[in-house]
Amino acid sequence: MPGEILVVGGGLIGSSIAWRLARKGAQVTIADAGNLGGEASSAGAGMLSPGAEFDKPSVWRDLGFESLLLYPSFVEELQAETGIDTDFRMFYPDDGIVDPAALLRALHCACESRKVRIMREHVTSVEPRDYAGVVIAAGAWSGQVRVNSMTLPAVTPIKGHLIGFQMGPGALGPVRRHGETYVLQRSSGFLIAGSNEQDVGFDRTVDAAICEDIHRRASRLFAPLEHATPVKRWIGFRPRLVEGDGPRIGRVEGTNVWLAYGHYRNGILLTPVTAQRIADEIESS
Ligand SMILES: Cc1cc2nc3c(=O)[nH]c(=O)nc-3n(C[C@H](O)[C@H](O)[C@H](O)COP(=O)(O)OP(=O)(O)OC[C@H]3O[C@@H](n4cnc5c(N)ncnc54)[C@H](O)[C@@H]3O)c2cc1C
Repeated sequence: MPGEILVVGGGLIGSSIAWRLARKGAQVTIADAGNLGGEASSAGAGMLSPGAEFDKPSVWRDLGFESLLLYPSFVEELQAETGIDTDFRMFYPDDGIVDPAALLRALHCACESRKVRIMREHVTSVEPRDYAGVVIAAGAWSGQVRVNSMTLPAVTPIKGHLIGFQMGPGALGPVRRHGETYVLQRSSGFLIAGSNEQDVGFDRTVDAAICEDIHRRASRLFAPLEHATPVKRWIGFRPRLVEGDGPRIGRVEGTNVWLAYGHYRNGILLTPVTAQRIADEIESS
């Protein structure tokens, strides 16, 4: 693939696209405003549950199942390249978990060893003529990037809280979930309880009352939490498109610009399918 591909955003979506492109021999640069994926991708819980998330036919559901099928080979290839274990586990055929922070570490490591250039840069505008291709994958900030005279689909940050407990490894077993409330456990024993949704812009405050409410709800799903003390509380911004159903994954017609954002509650699940689609489209363009 001749020419440089610029990927704006180094979260799970941008980094996985960069990795897939680099594997195809492309020359890739990631520009990330922060500490490479320190936003939604490392904040997320890591449930891979299209069955539990979507009870009616939808674009989300189709993409979710397609992506879950790709997960085993995706993490296996990453682990083979990097030696990093992403704590990917399947409890039931359509229900798994992964540690998104470990997945992100593995992707960055794989990108580095495949000579992807990584720039710390807040991109405010891009001139697509300067590149063979441009991918916008800046999560909840994607709509703020100016690309020529295009109007990109707008995104809203949907804030979510999570709390974490240190428990004995294996204490929980499979993910437990009821409505908005869920608990899951990493192999290390770290147990995560979530969540909530707030449409309040980029407010980074961790609200103690919301964390207490999550703690109460989670204790109903897993009684040992009732007397446990959270060791960590944090928030993240899910990127939700203002209009339309499903994320934007594909080319802006008639241009060399691809959009890969708006994954909302399921960007960790949808990472493999997004990376595969965008990288294949760019390769065949
Ligand atoms: C509380 C919570 C729980 C979640 N749980 C799950 C779950 O269990 N399962 C699941 O599948 N999904 C889950 N999600 C959703 C998932 O985390 C997101 O959909 C996904 O991480 C989005 O990835 P991304 O790469 O698009 O965005 P991000 O991870 O937000 O990455 C965007 C990147 O772009 C960079 N950036 C921003 N602006 C610019 C700019 N102007 N120039 C350059 N770089 C820029 C940022 O620094 C960041 O690194 C959860 C999210 C939250 C908040």
